[in-house]
Amino acid sequence: MQVSPCSDRPILVPCSLNNFEHQIDPYVGCGHYCYYCYALNQAETDWAKEIGMHHDLVKQLGRELEKIEPQKIYLGYYTDPYQPSEVEYRQTRKVLMLLLEKGFSASILTKSNLVVRDLDLLQKMDDAAVSVSVAFNDNHVRQKFEAHTIDTEKRIEALRQLRNAGIRTSALICPVIPYITNVIPLIDQLAPYTDVIWVYGLSMQDPSDQNWQNVKNILNRHFPELKKRIETVIFSKDHSYWTQLRHELQMIQKKRQLNLNIHV
Ligand code: SF4
Repeated sequence: MQVSPCSDRPILVPCSLNNFEHQIDPYVGCGHYCYYCYALNQAETDWAKEIGMHHDLVKQLGRELEKIEPQKIYLGYYTDPYQPSEVEYRQTRKVLMLLLEKGFSASILTKSNLVVRDLDLLQKMDDAAVSVSVAFNDNHVRQKFEAHTIDTEKRIEALRQLRNAGIRTSALICPVIPYITNVIPLIDQLAPYTDVIWVYGLSMQDPSDQNWQNVKNILNRHFPELKKRIETVIFSKDHSYWTQLRHELQMIQKKRQLNLNIHV
């Protein structure tokens, strides 16, 4: 993976999520290279080969943070802060150190257990939170859709460690791929280690989008018998597949008093 300095731009940017005013993406691009990733449609580089990095992150972010009051900052909106390059470049750790030093806190979304490395910093923050995203029950299937992520079980183990260490935890089951992602067993695995589980279905907007081209190739190659059915569902938000899944999730939410946030 080539890691190049990205063009000058703000590091601290407004966040559109409820409860967050600002977000930081320590990298520009994401080496996890999930083939279904929506952000691939606007990628500035080919993430399979090259990602960008703010070359003077600490100085620049230090200046940007001085302009706002201490608050909780969201990490992981466009790219994963614990993607493979973080092992070497430690950009996310630098961000967290700076946030801690200046009295800020962080809410992180990741697909990696590398986040556990930074427990020492997260524990010192006021109410830091980590959310882990999973989408596959079978790791052989996961490898077909996500080029460089780790096993689902390792992510769940990270959630267990974070929770035991007193960090607020949640999970995303995202994206639910129709006829491939079996949601209920994932909920069973995640529920003991999370306060809330968010469920999002895979949805495609435009057949010319890069992420659909990627997914289509995977389906043609590995799931030809399911391809037509999956295609129909993910291009139709009102498909009965989603209605039925939503109903099933609402039932188990009520029956088991689970804190589910259902977006299918
Ligand atoms: S980890 Fe997230 S941002 Fe990175 S490629 Fe996968 S879906 Fe996209």
